[in-house]
Amino acid sequence: MEFSWWLVLLAGIIGWCIGYDNIRLVFSSLWSRQATDLATLLPGHKDRVERDAELDGLLRQYPVDEVSYDVYETLGDAFRRRGEYSRAIGVHEHLLASGALSDEHRQLTILELSRDYAGAGLLDRVEALLVPLVKEHPQGLGARTHLLRLYEKQQEWESAIELARESQVLPAEERDSLIAQYCCEIAALHELEDKLDESKQWLKKALKSHSACSRALLMLGRQCIELKNYDESLEHFSEIEKNHPELAPEIAESMFFALTHSDDPTAMPKHLEYVRQRQNSYSVIKLARDAISRLEGEQSASEFFIEQIAHRPSLKGLRDWAERELEMTKPRDKEKVAAMVEMLRGVVDEKPVYRCNRCGYRCKQIQWRCPGCENWNSVKIIIGAEGE
Ligand SMILES: [Zn+2]
Repeated sequence: MEFSWWLVLLAGIIGWCIGYDNIRLVFSSLWSRQATDLATLLPGHKDRVERDAELDGLLRQYPVDEVSYDVYETLGDAFRRRGEYSRAIGVHEHLLASGALSDEHRQLTILELSRDYAGAGLLDRVEALLVPLVKEHPQGLGARTHLLRLYEKQQEWESAIELARESQVLPAEERDSLIAQYCCEIAALHELEDKLDESKQWLKKALKSHSACSRALLMLGRQCIELKNYDESLEHFSEIEKNHPELAPEIAESMFFALTHSDDPTAMPKHLEYVRQRQNSYSVIKLARDAISRLEGEQSASEFFIEQIAHRPSLKGLRDWAERELEMTKPRDKEKVAAMVEMLRGVVDEKPVYRCNRCGYRCKQIQWRCPGCENWNSVKIIIGAEGE
C-alpha cells in the first residue's frame, strides 16, 4: 500500500476510535482489509504485545514529514486519551527522533510528550523535557504553564517561584498573585512544623509580591492571635475586609476573638458600629449579635439580629432562630419544634460552604487552589439563602 493511502486509512480508523464522526464518515468505507489490520494497533485491542510490535514496525516504515505530522499527532493523542501512555510516548519520541520537524512542530511534540510522561507518572522526565524548552523559548506560555503545574504537583514551591518570576508572558498581576500563593504554601509548611518565625518571613515575602494577598494576611492574623498580639492581628484582618469584603465570614471568628481580647476598649464598639452600617453574612451577624448582647444587653442584640436577618435571610439564620424558639416553646409543642430544628440542622450541615467559580467544585473548607480545576483563588464562599 502506498504511503498516502496508509495515512488516509489511519486517520479514518483514529477518527472512528476516538469518536471524530466527520473523519470516520469520510474514511470508513476505504480499504476494509487493511482497516482490520490497523485496528489491532488501536487502544482496546486485546493483544497488546503483538500490537506494540506492529506499531513499532509501522513507525519505522513510514517517514515523518510535514504531511504525516498531523496523523502521527492524532494517533499519539488518541493513545493518551485512552490511557495508553507507553504507545503515545512511542509515537511522540519517534516524531522527535526523526529530526524532520519544523521548530514549531518540535515544540508542540515536546509538549505532547511531556503530557504522555505526566500521564505515565514519569515526572522527572517531564521536568528534564520542559526546562530546556522554557529556556529556549522564554516567550512560550505552554511549556512554562506545564512546568509550573508539575512543580505545584510536586510541591517544589521555590522552583515554582523562580519559574514564575522569570515569566515574560504571565500578566504582572497574575504572576505576583501566583508567587504570593507559592510563598504562602511554604509558610504553611513551616507553620505545620511550628516554625512560626520562618513562616512569618515567607508570609512577608508573599505580601511583598502581592500586598492584598488575603491568604497571607489571614495566616499572619491567626499567628498573631497565637502569640496574643491581638491588636496586630486586627490590622491584618482589617486589610482583608478592605480588599476582600467577601472573605468577612472566613475571618469573622478570628476577628471577633481578637476584638474581645484587644487592649483597646473602643475596638469592639467601633467594629460593631461598622457592622451595623452594612449588610452582613450570617457568620458575622451571629458573632456580632453575641458581642452586642454582652455589651448592650439581650434586647439590643435581638433587635440587631432581626433587622440583619431580614436583609439577608439564610438557612443558618432560620436554624438558629428555631433553636431559640425551642427553648421558649410550651412543653406540649416541644416535640414538634424539636423535630423541625433537627431537620434544619441536618440540611445546614450537609450544605457546602464554598464553590469554585470556574468548575463548580464544592467543599466545606476554603481551598486556595481548587482541587477540581487546579486554579488558584477560584474557590469562593457561597453567599445567599443556602450559604452565608
Ligand atoms: Zn475549580
